[in-house]
Amino acid sequence: MTDRAARAEIVVDLDAIAANTALLRERVGRPLMAVVKADGYGHGLVPAARAVLAGGADCLGVTVLDEALALRSAGVTAPVLSWLHNPGTDFVPALERDVQVSVNAVWGLDEVVAAARATGRTAELHLFVDTGLSREGATMVDWPALVEAAVGAQSDGHVTVVGLWSHLAYADAPTHPTIGAQVRVFEEAVALARAAGLTDARLHLANSAATIALPETWYDMVRPGVALYGLDPLGGPDPRAHGLRPAMTVRARVMLTKRVPAGAGVSYGHTYFTPEETTLALVPVGYADGVPRAAGNTAPVLAAGARRTIAGRVCMDQFVVDVGDAPVAAGDEVVLWGPGDRGEPTAQQWADALGTIHYELVTRIGGRFTRRHV
Ligand code: PLP
Repeated sequence: MTDRAARAEIVVDLDAIAANTALLRERVGRPLMAVVKADGYGHGLVPAARAVLAGGADCLGVTVLDEALALRSAGVTAPVLSWLHNPGTDFVPALERDVQVSVNAVWGLDEVVAAARATGRTAELHLFVDTGLSREGATMVDWPALVEAAVGAQSDGHVTVVGLWSHLAYADAPTHPTIGAQVRVFEEAVALARAAGLTDARLHLANSAATIALPETWYDMVRPGVALYGLDPLGGPDPRAHGLRPAMTVRARVMLTKRVPAGAGVSYGHTYFTPEETTLALVPVGYADGVPRAAGNTAPVLAAGARRTIAGRVCMDQFVVDVGDAPVAAGDEVVLWGPGDRGEPTAQQWADALGTIHYELVTRIGGRFTRRHV
């Protein structure tokens, strides 16, 4: 297939990911766990992992054990933490392949210990404390029991507790009062764990927003995700304000053009009517490819030399752009989002238009797009 015939592609700039990582690593001056979960936030798990490691990341974080094992199968040898495990998870492959795991509760620890017994290995363990997000982690009510069980498992040689950690609810609002409150709970949890003998564990709390804006949360290691891909975790209009370069460009090619009169209803339900005689360009990607249906009549694209809003509803496999009298031909490029340097919209602008966050857009785009790493 020639480049012009390529249907649609997600182009990932790996140098940008490496540079963003290097910038944050240097700025914080301490270890950095690069979060590459959810297929590297849609940028490709293994290429993203290699890029962050090239940029100086010390270790990798994923939610799902399968992602950690996929990294190992691809030959990635850096430390990897996997942290979201269903009851009944078999931790044997994790231990056999040196994957660090996190637990939220004593029952999770018991499953890790069972795998340690079965393999004769010692699991490297992180304990997650819920300091106020009310999501993963043990609450302060359950924390003492988890710590006590972990101390026991450590003295039996089944685990080494290498991390104590938590996650912030409002890191993207750096003056929010919950941040101080969560930090206080974290320190209380850490003090309890240290008093019980877990003295060597590394403390980590800061996601991207905190890595950028909250030095008091950096502790022994930071744990950014989205910023490594060049997206502003604080939701600002231009990630370059933080020295970040967006890595993802989403582009497609016009498949068909047609001239239509004024008053033509466009796409299902005719939610858009051409205001005058115009040229319509058909773009062959749709919600099955991760282009949100809500982008119809809402989200911008760069087409025929200018920013234009998608005309009418996004369909399963296609959408339409009204390019007016601008010259356009089948095979011409249409950019959904990218770094913004060529006048194309950014993922942040899409997020603003759709009332969502760029995280959701970059992790969902996919379907039949081809992903190309450059
Ligand atoms: N730590 C945890 C526990 C997370 O769930 C996430 C992502 O959601 C991150 C770190 C990275 O967050 P961000 O992408 O905002 O840097």
